[in-house]
Amino acid sequence: MTTLFPHPSLADAIDPSVDHAIQAIVSGASTDDTCSTDLAAGPWNFDTRPGYGPGSSMGDVIPVGAPRQGELPQEYRDADEDELHARIAAAKETLGDRVIVMGHFYQRDEVVQHADYVGDSFQLATAAKEHGRAEAIVFCGVHFMAETADLLSGADQAVILPNLAAGCSMADMADIDQVEECWEQLADVLGPLDVPDADGRVPVIPVTYMNSSAAIKGFVGRHGGIVCTSSNARTVLEWAFARGRRVLFFPDQHLGRNTAKGMGVALEQMPMWNPRRPLGGNDADALVNSQVILWHGFCSVHRRFTVDQIDQARAEHPGVRVIVHPECPMEVVDAADEAGSTDYIRKAIAAATEPTTFAVGTEINLVRRLAAQYPQHEIFCLDPVVCPCSTMYRIHPGYLAWVLEELVAGRTPNRITVPADVADPARLALERMLAARPPAAASTPAQVETR
Ligand code: SF4
Repeated sequence: MTTLFPHPSLADAIDPSVDHAIQAIVSGASTDDTCSTDLAAGPWNFDTRPGYGPGSSMGDVIPVGAPRQGELPQEYRDADEDELHARIAAAKETLGDRVIVMGHFYQRDEVVQHADYVGDSFQLATAAKEHGRAEAIVFCGVHFMAETADLLSGADQAVILPNLAAGCSMADMADIDQVEECWEQLADVLGPLDVPDADGRVPVIPVTYMNSSAAIKGFVGRHGGIVCTSSNARTVLEWAFARGRRVLFFPDQHLGRNTAKGMGVALEQMPMWNPRRPLGGNDADALVNSQVILWHGFCSVHRRFTVDQIDQARAEHPGVRVIVHPECPMEVVDAADEAGSTDYIRKAIAAATEPTTFAVGTEINLVRRLAAQYPQHEIFCLDPVVCPCSTMYRIHPGYLAWVLEELVAGRTPNRITVPADVADPARLALERMLAARPPAAASTPAQVETR
């Protein structure tokens, strides 16, 4: 099979498995530290509540007919790593081109090694679109990513999330009711939000990060807004400022702040919207004078990175090159040498021709995989504590083996389907993003990401 983002050929000498590292910590074989020893156990121990899982957003209404995560059959819980590996490989062999397996960069290595494509959420959704003949797309990521794959794949293709409890804590921080309420309150302060001024710009353009539910993407599509990724956030903000006097950016405050700051927007013109407080906790003047209204959301993984960690890396590794993800807090991005998306980080390391020490501020599964793939460099995670994305971690190989063997048996478990009334405007918001181009005088995306 031709792959756009093939799983890397890993060096034998370096074990990229975060699960092995956590098992060693829990057993006492390693003196490293982990943020949660619970991660050593099977995720089914924490998924006892049958339901939609955290899904797109815990606050969203569960769609009618949506699948519920049942208990993983005992045989998959009892199977060891080798047995699950063999069963997954055998099921994939049987299914052939009928199924395609997607693995997010942050997915655990025991799952990623079976992926036909490895990439970020948008790369994977785009790759799914290229495989119109596959009957099933098994998406080893989190819920909003499977939704995006469903939006971009064919109507007769089933997008399957192996464990419905694999949500995203950041996506959960903006649910559709909160965003609708925010929009109404902004209209009270700013006037009718669909009426342009003399320059043809409306009072506010909503921009949502890819890491949000389909319901939020649909909201944005209905209100003249657009989706962004961490790779194209600046281009998208430029698109939005050409059409609106200000931007409402959700759910990740850090990506919004870091990007807008890089474009010259003053911090005092970036009020934070706390959905639990009237006017988001702001006075009306702050909203009137704003340029970017930042939603009170963040990634629990990228929030762990600190300036102290960067200082320590520089002290212990003179000449270290520090690259962090723009979901990190502003002080961390400011203290790093570079900031960019997972794809940027991967390409920056791949492009280094001389042996280099890299301290990387992003999810540890990706960092360890890069360390294994490029043994000529020293690559380590800025955070010394082994702390993966715990929701992505819910896709244990036991769940992957289960869904693949269900497909072999002619059943389609855990299908993620975005309802048409949400899907149509959500696709519109994605299409606007795909069509957005930086203004002629603006920086290219690569320049945006390299500070
Ligand atoms: S790393 Fe952060 S943003 Fe990505 S899926 Fe996990 S919680 Fe969500």
